[in-house]
Amino acid sequence: MHKKLFIPGPVEIAPEILSAMSLPMIGHRMKEYAELHGRVTANLKKLMFTNNRVFLATSSAFGVMEGAVRNLVGKRCANFCNGAFSDKWHDVTRRCGKEADPFKAEWGKPVTPEMVDRALASGKYDSMTLIHNETSTGVMSPLAEIAEVLRNYPEVVSIIDTVSSMSALPIKLDELGIDCCIFGVQKAFALPPGLAVFTASEKALARAATVEGRGYYFDFLEFAANDDKDNTPSTPCISQIYALDRQLERFFAEGLENRWARHSAMADYVRSWVRANGFGLFPEDGYCSQTLTCATNDRGVDLAALKRALGERGYAFDDGYGKIKGKTFRIAHMGDMTLEDLREFIAVIEGCLAGL
Ligand SMILES: *Cc1c(COP(=O)(O)O)cnc(C)c1O
Repeated sequence: MHKKLFIPGPVEIAPEILSAMSLPMIGHRMKEYAELHGRVTANLKKLMFTNNRVFLATSSAFGVMEGAVRNLVGKRCANFCNGAFSDKWHDVTRRCGKEADPFKAEWGKPVTPEMVDRALASGKYDSMTLIHNETSTGVMSPLAEIAEVLRNYPEVVSIIDTVSSMSALPIKLDELGIDCCIFGVQKAFALPPGLAVFTASEKALARAATVEGRGYYFDFLEFAANDDKDNTPSTPCISQIYALDRQLERFFAEGLENRWARHSAMADYVRSWVRANGFGLFPEDGYCSQTLTCATNDRGVDLAALKRALGERGYAFDDGYGKIKGKTFRIAHMGDMTLEDLREFIAVIEGCLAGL
């Protein structure tokens, strides 16, 4: 039995996306691929409100998160950390042999503009990493306010992960001045995993040109040279790019504003249910994610048993990530999900809770 996914990634995939993936194969050095690539990157630029380069990488998000560090960290990197994925990014930065310092907010709290300002004011850093939406804790940090602070540090290249937020709310990259934005497609984009998208500003490309040890697979300059021909350095996951092409069409057919509003309505619904049912919200007030709700298990429910009961009924449920597993649970409201899907899921949760 397929379990319907309400976990924060991967998420349910629309049947028409799955069928787009079964189109006949083309060669990536054929003009048919260049047409596909050109259309997809043009639509991604529209979605992200950017004129910067947009690249397609065949990997999960962490491939490019590592690649960005290898390309863009020259002197020293400030890694802002407030959950499992951002903690890991600091570890990855160090494993790439880069000088880097973690600046930690407690789990459940956002990275704040003040934290960023304090760290960068030391003058030690030429790069910084931030996760906009920490999927492990359901916390969304205030990107616009942080971007304001970054304007005062033109020597710093900003590397921002929007894996679980891109497309669910407006993130206007050029207005914000973000140098490198990264996301994988299996969360907010509702595509099968294995493809990552990233952008690079002129400043980012100029930095990469000065940095040694960029390697090959994620070398930003290789990506830029191939992008001139609407292509990728090595063979891309063409089936997934078919899916992305179709999904972008669906985004624009829905309308971006409608898409953002749908996500807000789903987030409101789930948060209200959480509060009205004896649970709490894990994130600090005002910083709840637009795409998932991380709830505190204030009722002391046996979450493993709840997960099992939901599994038997055909639903995949997440009982927390990393060190807050069992103390929190997460409900995703991202991708192609609708309020109807969530009403169905919540009704089944209520049934299971009554029987535990
Ligand atoms: C899931 C996730 C990642 C890791 O992505 P992979 O595709 O598994 O490499 C990174 N950052 C955030 C915010 C995520 O939610």
